[in-house]
Amino acid sequence: MDYPRNKEEVVERYSRVFPRSARVTYAPIVGVKAENARVWDIEGREYIDFLSDAAVQNVGHNNPRVVNAIREQAERLIHFTFIYGFPVEPLLLAEKLAEISPIESPKVGFGMSGSDANDGAIKLARAYTRRRTILSYLRSYYGATYGAMSITGLDFEVRSIVGELSGIHYIPYPNCYRCPFGKDPKTCKMECVSYIKEKFEGEVYADGVAALFAEPIQGDAGMVVPPQDYFKKVKRILDEHDILLVVDEVQSGMGRTGRWFAIEHFGVTPDVITIAKPLGGGLPISAIIGRSKVMDSLPSLGHTFTLSGNPVTSRAALAVIEEIEEKDLLKRAEKLGEYTRKRLEKMKEEHELIGDVRGLGLMLGVDLVKDRETKERAYEEARKVVWRAYELGLVLAFLQGNVLRIQPPLTIEEELLEEGLNRLERAIADVEEGRVPDEVL
Ligand code: PMP
Repeated sequence: MDYPRNKEEVVERYSRVFPRSARVTYAPIVGVKAENARVWDIEGREYIDFLSDAAVQNVGHNNPRVVNAIREQAERLIHFTFIYGFPVEPLLLAEKLAEISPIESPKVGFGMSGSDANDGAIKLARAYTRRRTILSYLRSYYGATYGAMSITGLDFEVRSIVGELSGIHYIPYPNCYRCPFGKDPKTCKMECVSYIKEKFEGEVYADGVAALFAEPIQGDAGMVVPPQDYFKKVKRILDEHDILLVVDEVQSGMGRTGRWFAIEHFGVTPDVITIAKPLGGGLPISAIIGRSKVMDSLPSLGHTFTLSGNPVTSRAALAVIEEIEEKDLLKRAEKLGEYTRKRLEKMKEEHELIGDVRGLGLMLGVDLVKDRETKERAYEEARKVVWRAYELGLVLAFLQGNVLRIQPPLTIEEELLEEGLNRLERAIADVEEGRVPDEVL
């Protein structure tokens, strides 16, 4: 093993061995060690992680409870396949997930990624309803496997090259800052809801629709939060036609927004929930939690993998849940989220570059614009802010090219959160005042 010596060497060797389809690059950081909300790179530089490792580290990097659970389980039993055997740890995890789920007496399926969980949910919805059509949202992200890729509504170049599932229809997601119907939220008639009704009167035969897939807050679309009564109204329409509501909580779940599941903010109970990212504290595990009749609709081996229900990843997930419960992290996400939001709102008063601040709990977005009137997206500026933040020791990313993604661990220390916000404000000011050169673009 030829361990690299520095960042440049890693970046160079990456480009030789990994295809470009595997990654996006904002600014290279070679993380070699992490603890809670801090990450250290190969040269020993310390960063504050406002990205939570892409919304994975809800209980912090290398959370000691998670590390101990993994170590202890790995010493006892790393794997005993769920397909032939009856490992105990996935059972305990499924029971715990059933307990925290808003769905009554659900059943649970395990996988390894958000993408495979969404693929499973597509199969379940089609099998249960015996219908084929799936409704999804423009700008949604569900993953990279065939099914998840097919229902993803973000511009996704790969789909047009490799082909996709048929029977997918897209509808606009409610967005009160950039309304797809050109309305003002103060005077609108919720055209985002009536659009669905109209769709059923024209283009889409409602009795052929299996499910609507929704992120309760659209993450990769730029942290878009729907109006409070949106999902209630939509669920009423779906119920009229026996269409399932599948919510993707891969990014918004496991306490991120101050509830176990973000859909709980909106007062509706979905039929199926998918989770992944933070579930295993960084180990690959996903779950589908659904109404038991829906979950029972696939035949044997209809959606399972050799490594699903793995004891080590299950133990890690149990430790994540225990940590959220014992440290009262749902409350903490709400409290720190409110604080962060206020601080970002205050930044908005002082920095013209900020057009909108939005989100729930510690799932926040800062929409950067060239002009507050036209809301033109500030792509170059966002890139520069992220670049400068890295220079200042803050890990950030942007979504849709211009929305800063603010998702620190729910366990971040108050002082570190404050310091991260100070660095963010400095990065924004440096870009506004022309102190970041165009060469970084
Ligand atoms: N759903 C949502 C809402 C996501 O944000 C993501 C990842 N960005 C996925 C699904 C896909 O998850 P994974 O990368 O674990 O397959």
